[in-house]
Amino acid sequence: MGIEEKLPSGFLLTTVEKMANEAHRASLWPATFGLACCAIEMMSSGGPRYDLARFGMEVFRASPRQADLMIVAGRVSQKMAPVLRQIYDQMANPKWVISMGVCASSGGMFNNYAIVQGVDHVVPVDIYLPGCPPRPEMLINAIMELHEDIRNRKIGAHRRVEVGEREQLALTAVPTSDQRGLLQ
Ligand code: SF4
Repeated sequence: MGIEEKLPSGFLLTTVEKMANEAHRASLWPATFGLACCAIEMMSSGGPRYDLARFGMEVFRASPRQADLMIVAGRVSQKMAPVLRQIYDQMANPKWVISMGVCASSGGMFNNYAIVQGVDHVVPVDIYLPGCPPRPEMLINAIMELHEDIRNRKIGAHRRVEVGEREQLALTAVPTSDQRGLLQ
């Protein structure tokens, strides 16, 4: 018999971690930040057909100080990289990044000096979204995956351990420059 059975009806037990995560998950606001063609798909996700409003996320914030999600929609030029980083730094903590499309994730077909070969060289990325361009359904799926990630994230001392473990995993991963896709 646990403490739950002794409580009068109307009481609900949870942990601070779960409550904080649920609050973060249900209150994501994206920054207005479209860089190229992928941004058109991102914009249509906010319209009535795809309805980002179902998550309360339809208003893309014009100020990074009111946003905690950056959707990098499109290729990142070398000139734009410091601006992107500044916007990220000005966003409220805790914050998350979705890399939308192959260009943002790896430079895509723009394998040249003008384009950053993956936005993870500039900001930490939580979700990589494949496609050129990814459809709005794929973006919504990525947002739902992020929601799941936030729901299960650790906070406090547990968070520090989790970050260390993820860092180790990233260090032992095959570098993208060594990946050859189907040619491997
Ligand atoms: S992934 Fe395709 S749609 Fe998106 S920015 Fe690159 S070229 Fe444009």
